[in-house]
Amino acid sequence: MAQKRDYYEVLGVAKTASEDEIKKAYRKIAIKYHPDRNPGDKEAEEKFKEAAEAYDVLHDPQKRQQYDQFGFNGPMGGNGFGGFGGASMNMDDIFSMFGDIFGGHGFGGFSGSGGRARAQQQRGGDLRLKVRLTLEEINKGVTKKFKVRKDIECAHCHGSGAEAGSGKETCPTCHGSGVITHTTQSIFGMMQTQGVCPTCHGQGEVIKNKCHECGGTGVVKGEEVVEIKIPAGVAEGMVVNVPGKGNAGPNNGISGDIQVFIEEEPSETFIRDGNDLIYNLLLDFPTAALGGEIEIPTIEGTKLKVKIENGTQPGKTLRLRGKGLPTVQGYGSGRGDLVVNISVYVPKTLSRDEKQALENFRNSDNFKGDKQTRDSIFQRFKNYFS
Ligand SMILES: [Zn+2]
Ligand SMILES: [Zn+2]
Repeated sequence: MAQKRDYYEVLGVAKTASEDEIKKAYRKIAIKYHPDRNPGDKEAEEKFKEAAEAYDVLHDPQKRQQYDQFGFNGPMGGNGFGGFGGASMNMDDIFSMFGDIFGGHGFGGFSGSGGRARAQQQRGGDLRLKVRLTLEEINKGVTKKFKVRKDIECAHCHGSGAEAGSGKETCPTCHGSGVITHTTQSIFGMMQTQGVCPTCHGQGEVIKNKCHECGGTGVVKGEEVVEIKIPAGVAEGMVVNVPGKGNAGPNNGISGDIQVFIEEEPSETFIRDGNDLIYNLLLDFPTAALGGEIEIPTIEGTKLKVKIENGTQPGKTLRLRGKGLPTVQGYGSGRGDLVVNISVYVPKTLSRDEKQALENFRNSDNFKGDKQTRDSIFQRFKNYFS
């Protein structure tokens, strides 16, 4: 094996070079000897790997210090500290450093199939909002306005990212192909996979003169009033997705979405149970005993007349079909019910006359709940054996 060249010499920088100088030097070499640019050129590939290894050590302050002190043989002996060995880096390691060097997000979206990666439109990020709704709003559905801070299209360059009159030039990373080829050592031998170029996002071109307002991204921070329609029947924890209203995509890309998280304002009148509404009715004692007609509030804001049978017991429930909440966006059939749970109100204080009237019933067997229960159990027992 050939004598290893000094890392500083490989990158063509002084021993005192700054991190930035090292980065720039490596970038230049990496572009020059990039395998995509030199297909099948073994010497270029070796130079490319050599530079990557040098950069891997010199851009890391700790590794660099070790290298300065001990050279190729680290203090741990053998492989050396952190493994500076020539075989320690594979192409995957080298490519994973590119995110750092060339900016962007590294190598997302490998096609794997070896086919040409499609030009990617960049997508803006999603935004999340919370909205608190009353049951009345949920019943009808509601349109809410939000003032959102988000990435909007740069007005100066109309989202293109280019200064007026400025054209595009071939991407220096992928040389116009839009694709980066990765050569990896796997158990099947050398494998080539392709990924979208992180510099031009598969476009093959980059902007020559970047817009001075947005720095070439085509988006700036801004504000927009967004109207969002919330369908009827939504519930706490649901998410309403509004496509295309999120952050604008860089360079006339695709806008992200707004995700609206639904929260429910507790109601003073109703308890929600799925699409059913529960109404706790505190019935007056005479109506429970004598029967009559009472009014029940509905979610629509109207009153519903309901007949109460004489002798209605506390704990009885009435089910008013279809008077609950609608199902969201037409799932299932129609509406839930309004369930009326009846309890009976016992006055806390009584006038003298009221006391007098009630005293008359105190000793009446017909008013003794406990006796009624015992009698009915006895009756059932008798029926069982007869
Ligand atoms: Zn701009
Ligand atoms: Zn490119």
